Amino acid sequence: MSTFKEMGLKSEILSAITDLGYENPTPIQKLALPKVLESKQDLIAFAQTGTGKTAAFSLPILNQIDPTKDGIKCIVLSPTRELGLQIAEDIKSYSKNMPGFKAVAVYGGADINQQIRKLERGCDVVVGTPGRTLDLIKRNRLNLEGVQYLVLDEADEMLSMGFADDLDAILANTPQEKQTLLFSATMPPDMVKLSKKYMTDPAEISAGNKKQANTNVTHQYYKINSRDRYPSLKRAVDVAPDIYGIIFCRTRAETKEVAERLAEDGYNTDALHGDLSQAQRDYVMNRFRNRQLQLLVATDVAARGLDVNELTHVINFKLPDEDDVYVHRSGRTGRAANVGISLSLLTSKEENRLRYLEKKIGRKFEKVLIPNGQEICEKQLFSLIDNIKETEIANSHIDGFLPQIFDMFKDMSKEEVLKKIVSTEFNRFLEYYRDAPDLNKTSDKRERERNKDNRGDDSGGRRSRRERREHKTAAHMTRYFINQGKKDGFSPKLLMGMINSHMDGLSPEIGQIEIMKMFSFFEMESGHTSDLQRAAKQMEFNGREVAIEESSPRPEGGVDRKEKRNRRRGRNNDQRGNGGRSRRRQSSGSHGAKRRRRY
Ligand code: AMP
Repeated sequence: MSTFKEMGLKSEILSAITDLGYENPTPIQKLALPKVLESKQDLIAFAQTGTGKTAAFSLPILNQIDPTKDGIKCIVLSPTRELGLQIAEDIKSYSKNMPGFKAVAVYGGADINQQIRKLERGCDVVVGTPGRTLDLIKRNRLNLEGVQYLVLDEADEMLSMGFADDLDAILANTPQEKQTLLFSATMPPDMVKLSKKYMTDPAEISAGNKKQANTNVTHQYYKINSRDRYPSLKRAVDVAPDIYGIIFCRTRAETKEVAERLAEDGYNTDALHGDLSQAQRDYVMNRFRNRQLQLLVATDVAARGLDVNELTHVINFKLPDEDDVYVHRSGRTGRAANVGISLSLLTSKEENRLRYLEKKIGRKFEKVLIPNGQEICEKQLFSLIDNIKETEIANSHIDGFLPQIFDMFKDMSKEEVLKKIVSTEFNRFLEYYRDAPDLNKTSDKRERERNKDNRGDDSGGRRSRRERREHKTAAHMTRYFINQGKKDGFSPKLLMGMINSHMDGLSPEIGQIEIMKMFSFFEMESGHTSDLQRAAKQMEFNGREVAIEESSPRPEGGVDRKEKRNRRRGRNNDQRGNGGRSRRRQSSGSHGAKRRRRY
């Protein structure tokens, strides 16, 4: 029995699903349809979104519903408004050839009176979120006494969202005699309790191992230093030019912050979190669904119900506390026969979670080195060239301008024109990654170096380690002056601490530090002057604002005497309060001073 027809679906339903392009049942449909069509036994089905689960419960129920009879015959409970609406839409399309059949969706964040009016007009199936469903029952506007079918969709989600009490109250308003179908991706302990309480001898079906995450998903991780979390995220995104993905954060604040930073850095992104109104959430979700946004930064709760099949990546900016939530997150990619990557950014401490997660998903995580600047630039460049090659030429529009364009480029060779076109798009990456450090942990860096050595790579393979270090120092370090010295109690440790806590997740390499009596010099990997000066604005040491300036390179044999003399003068001026950049903090404390971190 492998076709919908052979399973006994009515012609009205068969014609509707044929119109939708459903030719063969999916694995979960093959298992669920006969169970619901042929018996009244309760059913627990393990299936994730994307497996065809909505049709798996809807089609056999619709097949048995008689729309000529009054009353609600089926209630479907779903964790979110988005999922509820999706289910109601699907049910409407499956039932479009069933005369008189009606489905109504009820959910929070929308006018309850309108929903009451729809219910009053009569319907066969109600799809609701737990909160609104219970509200309507309490107002005596929703009568579930006659339901023959109760579906708990994404039951594990409903429990993890704290709907257990609402479910109890709703289920108490349904008749004893009914068929209960519970669909879930996982089986957390709460759900075992729920099923024992409300189901009678349920049959269990599973499209695949219930503990297993989707096999189309590759689970990868970067091993990061915690201060490198954000730059590592950027690299993950930059190395995948065609990425279309969700970045999961743990809190609203983190979600906002990551989305803001990505937007500032020029990425096509927005945030989805609980502080948004329903209208704002809809707006963001629609833009993401329509691919107007390439990246969505979201909390787990806010992303529930967002149903997109083509995600290339799920990125765990931080792992969720619960393993089940990881399964849900990663199950959002690799759907509908697509392949996907679930990438986690893990510190050494967080890496310990992997063995539990691996057990949970029944798959191994693959450790991937954080890509370096060169790898990213290569990827971006070739993707750009591919895009240029694949772009269709709008002949009729462009032809008219061509003589003028040819004239403008007449003094350039073909190579020059190509270089310029590519540079307009590509310079951003080239610039950003020119002196970008290797973000991998030291042991992984060594591994990479060893591999390079073995390959005889040009960028260092033939140099000794000392030569490479020296080459790096000479070519990639900038020397800075800082207006703090021994007299202030300043030390290398304090300097490192200040930089680490203010550089917003960046981790530039620090070179030689020279602590003098009144001020100090230090070397830092080039390309971070503006980050450093922005950080300095937030620092305060011993009640004095911190000033950092680029300095001349370190002279052979130590500090340049002339510079030392000039700096000392400047410092004395500052201390007399003569308007230097490092004035003493006013006791009243200006707004700017308040934002500074004191040391
Ligand atoms: P779901 O898991 O219910 O969210 O379904 C995922 C997607 O698969 C939806 O776009 C459905 O319309 C589609 N779908 C469900 N069943 C079938 C089928 N038998 N053949 C083709 N597509 C299907």
